[in-house]
Amino acid sequence: GATLRLILGDQLNQKHHWFDSVDDNVTYLIAEMRQETDYVKHHIQKVVAFFLAMRTFKEELSEKGHRFIYLKIGDPNNPQDLAKIIKAYCDATSAERFEYQLPDEYRLDVQLKRIAKSLKIDTHAVDTEHFYTSRYELKDFFSGKKQLLMESFYRMMRKKHGIMVENGQPDGGKWNYDQSNRKKWKGTPEIPHERGFRKDVTDLLKEIEQAGVKTFGEIDPEKFNWPVSRADCLSVLNYFCKELLVHFGDYQDAMHTEEKYLFHSRLSFAMNAKIISPKEVIDKVLEQYHENKENIDISQVEGFVRQIVGWREYMRGIYWKEMPDYAKLNKLENQNPLPEFFWTGNTKMNCLKHAIGQSLTDAYAHHIQRLMVIGNFALLAQLHPDEVDQWYLGVYIDAIEWVEITNTRGMSQFADGGIVATKPYVSSSNYINKMSDYCGSCHYKHTQKQGDNACPFNFLYWNFLDAKKEHFKDNQRMTMMLSLLEKKSASEMEYIREKSAEIIKNPDTF
Ligand code: FAD
Ligand code: SF4
Repeated sequence: GATLRLILGDQLNQKHHWFDSVDDNVTYLIAEMRQETDYVKHHIQKVVAFFLAMRTFKEELSEKGHRFIYLKIGDPNNPQDLAKIIKAYCDATSAERFEYQLPDEYRLDVQLKRIAKSLKIDTHAVDTEHFYTSRYELKDFFSGKKQLLMESFYRMMRKKHGIMVENGQPDGGKWNYDQSNRKKWKGTPEIPHERGFRKDVTDLLKEIEQAGVKTFGEIDPEKFNWPVSRADCLSVLNYFCKELLVHFGDYQDAMHTEEKYLFHSRLSFAMNAKIISPKEVIDKVLEQYHENKENIDISQVEGFVRQIVGWREYMRGIYWKEMPDYAKLNKLENQNPLPEFFWTGNTKMNCLKHAIGQSLTDAYAHHIQRLMVIGNFALLAQLHPDEVDQWYLGVYIDAIEWVEITNTRGMSQFADGGIVATKPYVSSSNYINKMSDYCGSCHYKHTQKQGDNACPFNFLYWNFLDAKKEHFKDNQRMTMMLSLLEKKSASEMEYIREKSAEIIKNPDTF
């Protein structure tokens, strides 16, 4: 009988077994909808990237003979809501069966289960065939354990999938080369710049605007640069392997005013939309490594493998283990609203100006900018994790809740009380100055702790530890910091509290 198969915007896996052969009984349903553009306010490039990738996916598979119903955002007959769309098209196609791929977002999982239950025909959910792990694999792996250490999950993954292991031992003798991934970039080695895609998205942009979708951020409609097709994504991967991998690990944590991407791959959107799979990426990277062992050090490769085989799968597993409670956690009881400069980049703090500014112009910032500049400030200023989450979920090209919330609320804001991170990622200006050139051209002086020119991170840091010390008193990794805090004189602490109260009250004057 006739079957209707739903494909969500982040399920663009052409290698899924669904597409192994053409079946005339099957109709695929893809819908651009207000339900998805409106659950949070998104960066315009993110909306364009998803719609363009969905349209490209439909084109490419239609050419192979698969049948599609595709609803555009501006289509007057588009109900804009998943339940209504599914019901309408089950009827229209006289479907006797409805199938979908397991969504990666809790919100959609609940919704789809409810919809499936309400239909009067057979329904069936299948895996997306994208990740290395299944939804609850991490939960099972850590069952009965108190600490959910990424490192032990990562080693299990390396062994299970035979990635850089021989006889159960890691290649090169070490599992982790994190210690060597700490270089500052000072203009060399040169970063080769690719030409980019420069797609013209003027028409799509108009459709999105005319549909009334509210977005933020900037876009150059004649030079849209994110990969949206299989060929685009493979070319980004190829470019990464050939040109960037060789220095990836070394400069993974570096930041620079003139270089937004450094040696980062920019593959997160391609993978999160499932246009390419993590296995394809890892296989290609390892192939490049094995063919060029004399040029590429193992630490560069291991650093990259850890992000994808380790962190990415780990975050997904944590998400399914901890949701839905996770989305409400605020263990440090932070309450402050987001400063206006998160929407403008307009601040004298140079590191934030660059990291936020680039997020707004490019829908991208790399990991350390997200973690040690923007996230660091948000935590030190004790911003409410709900507001921080909404911002991160909206602004980044790769932001989908399963990977956004675990990184933001968990790793960066410590609002989960230490499920993901063993201690909060906070620092004074020291770290930022060590890893970037931001401080050199800043209005504030990274060396100063007091006075009008003192770097705000330098007092906010101690103020945060002071305000939250009760939360950390049993955390051994915080002992040293707390004992340094104890040594501060009463007058210094008074100054720290006063200055911090000023910036927390009026962040946009700084
Ligand atoms: P590269 O540096 O080239 O890394 C390669 C790949 O590794 C990435 O594409 C990504 O798939 C994976 N990866 C690296 N770090 C992580 C991580 N911590 N968690 C999961 N995967 C990782 N990543 C997202 O995909 N979506 C998000 O919404 C997101 N939000 C974040 C929020 C905060 C506060 C922080 C600190 C990190 C967040 N990350 C998120 C992780 C990471 O910053 C991005 O994956 C990365 O910057 C994407 O750029 P890239 O592809 O050039 O990465
Ligand atoms: Fe950021 Fe402080 Fe450095 Fe300025 S001095 S760039 S505010 S860390």
